[in-house]
Amino acid sequence: MSDKRQLLKKYMRCLDEMKNELKRRQLKKTLKTHMKTLHELECEIKQREGKQATLRQRGRVCDSRNLPHPQMLEEYTTQFCRLSEEARELLESALAARRDAYVPYSKFPVGAAFRSKCGYVYAGCNIENVAFTPGCCAERTALAKGVSEGQMMFTGGAVVAYHPKGFTMPCGVCRQFMREFACRDFPIYIAKAPAPELADRIPAIEDEDEVLVTSVYRLLPHSFSTFE
Ligand SMILES: [Zn+2]
Repeated sequence: MSDKRQLLKKYMRCLDEMKNELKRRQLKKTLKTHMKTLHELECEIKQREGKQATLRQRGRVCDSRNLPHPQMLEEYTTQFCRLSEEARELLESALAARRDAYVPYSKFPVGAAFRSKCGYVYAGCNIENVAFTPGCCAERTALAKGVSEGQMMFTGGAVVAYHPKGFTMPCGVCRQFMREFACRDFPIYIAKAPAPELADRIPAIEDEDEVLVTSVYRLLPHSFSTFE
């Protein structure tokens, strides 16, 4: 009996040692995982510190004396019914002009309208050409109508087209063209025309339709505007 007890004791000791060994191995594994995480965190911190140091070395654009910082109007979205009467009139004029768009190639009619400082509204549509390059966007057609009648200052503009994914924004050429006649910033209202499937109805912008109110300077920041 005593021998058996001795043997049992021996096995128990063996078992304890094995248990301890197992624990050590598990601890080693856990330690390895923690070390890896620590190393990754250290790398991330170094990267962030590097980025911050680079940012500190860079100047802020808004502090630059070599860039124009004109007063810009706010940019926001609102419902058509919340706009001023003048803004609504511009959008409706643009929508009406869109019906005359000459777009046999793109089939993408656009209408635009601008109000001159005297209060006149000039509306225009896009006019395409088989040679493509001579084509003219709606914005430039409308503005050219005003300028050709002696209007050089404008107080607002509107662009209306239909794209299922969202607003149709003026192209780069038109942004520069508008900038020429904006010695001060003025708002540009952008709305979606009714979907083509509603073409049998009289086209209208509904009261609850969303309108983007942006501005000439917002559309063309850091613009080229003078030689002097
Ligand atoms: Zn354009």
